[in-house]
Amino acid sequence: MRPNTLYIAVPCYNEEEVLPETSRRLGEKMRQLIASGQISGKSRVLFVNDGSKDKTWEVISALHEKDPLFSGLNLSRNRGHQNALLAGLLTAKDRADMVISMDADLQDDVDAVDAMVEKYHNGMDIVYGVRSSRAKDTFFKRFTAEAFYRLMNRMGAETVFNHADYRLMSRRALEGLAEFKEVNLFLRGIVPMIGYPTDTVEYERGERFAGESKYPLKKMLAFAMEGITSLSTKPIRMITGLGVLIFIISIAMLVYSVVRWAMGATTLGWASVMCSVWAIGGLILLSLGVIGEYVGKIYLETKGRPRFLIKDILEDSDEKVL
Ligand code: UDP
Ligand code: MG
Repeated sequence: MRPNTLYIAVPCYNEEEVLPETSRRLGEKMRQLIASGQISGKSRVLFVNDGSKDKTWEVISALHEKDPLFSGLNLSRNRGHQNALLAGLLTAKDRADMVISMDADLQDDVDAVDAMVEKYHNGMDIVYGVRSSRAKDTFFKRFTAEAFYRLMNRMGAETVFNHADYRLMSRRALEGLAEFKEVNLFLRGIVPMIGYPTDTVEYERGERFAGESKYPLKKMLAFAMEGITSLSTKPIRMITGLGVLIFIISIAMLVYSVVRWAMGATTLGWASVMCSVWAIGGLILLSLGVIGEYVGKIYLETKGRPRFLIKDILEDSDEKVL
């Protein structure tokens, strides 16, 4: 059996309304898993208070006071969901063998935890929670969300389809994650880069049972932009492509203008102006694209991402060969 201390990291921003119910459900689930020997008695629920303006931290402190199962982490100010989550994951990493990240509003089905833990025991390092259906979502939400995943993948930000941030990660996967030093954080895109054996667990995503979403459409669009620009330099490559395309058009225009000119069907100066407009436009875009390629390289270098992570090593350093 693999080591089995589980931490559940829960980022919380103004969640005083949901915490009593969330802690009750999570407490129940944890105790059940501990009793059945799936996880150790040192397992904890770690609430991360992301600079809430309401009584969230007081609620977390009271929970901790009453029950050692609940621990808390208080950030100095609001840093956003992704950063709060990372704080939770990296704090839990040194104390746990596996960490599950989950939203505070119980939209992520708590019962999927069992399957995740089981897959961990079967040797999986990352288990993605994937929504089985969006039956409960409105048409608009479903449509925009699916468009979001498609656009992201098209733009070179590869993510797991219909997976948000509900997932289990083993300690070594988290150690891999810690190697990604980037400040512009888009966890959903980075986690698949880590590698190691992975699997998925399907679950039904429920509705937020109290309070309101901290992710309105405006924030979601910003999040998509953040995802694309944090993960990929494809938009830059598109400029290069456009430059090449316009440059090809400019050659066609050149031929066309010269033919028209030879036929005597043009006013004086038209052919030369036409050619230069297209050629210069194409050249400028192409040059921008080339500069962009270098900017993109610099950008990726500054992220200082790990070049590799090792899964297994076969060696006996003490053994004499002869
Ligand atoms: N959250 C956070 N910091 C923020 C915004 C949100 O820690 O600045 C947390 C929030 O408390 C919740 C999770 O991120 O646990 C997801 O937020 P929410 O449920 O509002 O998003 P939605 O499910 O509507 O996309
Ligand atoms: Mg939610």
